[in-house]
Amino acid sequence: MDQSLLALPDDALVRVLALLPPREVFRLRLVCRRLRDLSLHRDVWRSVGLSGGDKGLLQAALRLAPCLREVTLLSPDLQAAACTVFNTKCVVTDLKLSVQNETDAAWATAIVQRFSTLGGLRDIRLYLHRAAPEALHPLLLMVYGVQDLSVLNVHIHSDMSQLPPLLSDLEPRPSLTVLAYLGAAPDPFLCSLLRTHAATLEDVVLFLADGLPTSLLGSMPRLRSLWCRLTDDLSQLKSLSDLDSFGLLDREVQDVPCPGTVDFLLQGPRLRTVEFDFEPNHPILGAALLEALAQSPSAPVLERLSLHGVQDSLVAAALQRFPSLRALALELDAMPSDDFFRAVSPASTPRLATLQLVPHRCPHAWLHDPAVQDVLARNAGLHLRLSGPPTLEDDCACRWCLWRCHRDELRTHAGLQSAFSAHTRRPGCPGDCRRWLWYV
Ligand SMILES: [Zn+2]
Ligand SMILES: [Zn+2]
Ligand SMILES: [Zn+2]
Repeated sequence: MDQSLLALPDDALVRVLALLPPREVFRLRLVCRRLRDLSLHRDVWRSVGLSGGDKGLLQAALRLAPCLREVTLLSPDLQAAACTVFNTKCVVTDLKLSVQNETDAAWATAIVQRFSTLGGLRDIRLYLHRAAPEALHPLLLMVYGVQDLSVLNVHIHSDMSQLPPLLSDLEPRPSLTVLAYLGAAPDPFLCSLLRTHAATLEDVVLFLADGLPTSLLGSMPRLRSLWCRLTDDLSQLKSLSDLDSFGLLDREVQDVPCPGTVDFLLQGPRLRTVEFDFEPNHPILGAALLEALAQSPSAPVLERLSLHGVQDSLVAAALQRFPSLRALALELDAMPSDDFFRAVSPASTPRLATLQLVPHRCPHAWLHDPAVQDVLARNAGLHLRLSGPPTLEDDCACRWCLWRCHRDELRTHAGLQSAFSAHTRRPGCPGDCRRWLWYV
């Protein structure tokens, strides 16, 4: 290490160490006594994430470091990690575990138990591949008993409906604010979590093959955001008056109206953020839900709308019903129609600041399309973003790429991911706002 670095005061040196790769920190630890002590300062390790793949490094960190921000352990590494974790004093904030079979589940249980005992666990992500429910039961019970957890994300590929009730010696205090659960049904584990943390849960994502635990969701005073699959059960959640964000994500759904969801939209809470994500071109379902949203109490206050699988002609017809709209994302299989582009206007969407679309064909040519240029020219405050992420083919033979206008600049500096607009950047603009107007 440069001697001038050693002249730094302790706190500055700790900040430098925190920027180095963990392997380098361990190497510097051998240089002198001062570095040996400072390299184990909490601030050096507070932001470090390691995975079971970094074998030696993870083991060294678990033996020496006072804390880690994140530890990720996948199936073949669970056993080795469990043996090291057994004696660790290292406090881990975020833990990601992927369990492939019954043996993994046992090791994972031991790992959660140790980190839970040390305190400090705030975020757990569990990926549970197919395993017998009774083999997963101890692990789920252990996770359920973790105190002061804020975020829990569970992907569970077995049907846990027959799981025995979760009777934990240590009933956790309500603490979860975010719960994402992907599973077969409202099983006992999910229901225990929803019941225990009802007072604190704010963001809930439930992707269940069957059913929605509406009575539990309906009694959450702080629920702000709900993402789930399409279901008629939603009509039972009309009284969630503080719900602000709502998403329906369901690729396996039929193209038929869903009366319960329509009812929820028409008579439910005033939503500021809405996302519908279905298989492309569901004209019947898309029309029913968008029409309900346009007639709902949410329409005047809706600020962010994201649509996949809803026809752009329907969106064009509904846009003027959303005068507060600030961000619109539309995912289509083809270039939006002229009708859609015409509907985006200061008269119908006066506050629209971001329009996100998927470019078709070459994104460079797409940005030069007269319809795209026109929508920017007519909407002075608008920013157009390309989703994807978009890429430029090296050998694109469109006339714009052959001319090489913009080609290099679109390729550099996250070029294609800019916020394209008809103005030069001004206060309030995103940092990547860039003027993109050639005809007008
Ligand atoms: Zn091109
Ligand atoms: Zn160009
Ligand atoms: Zn701008």
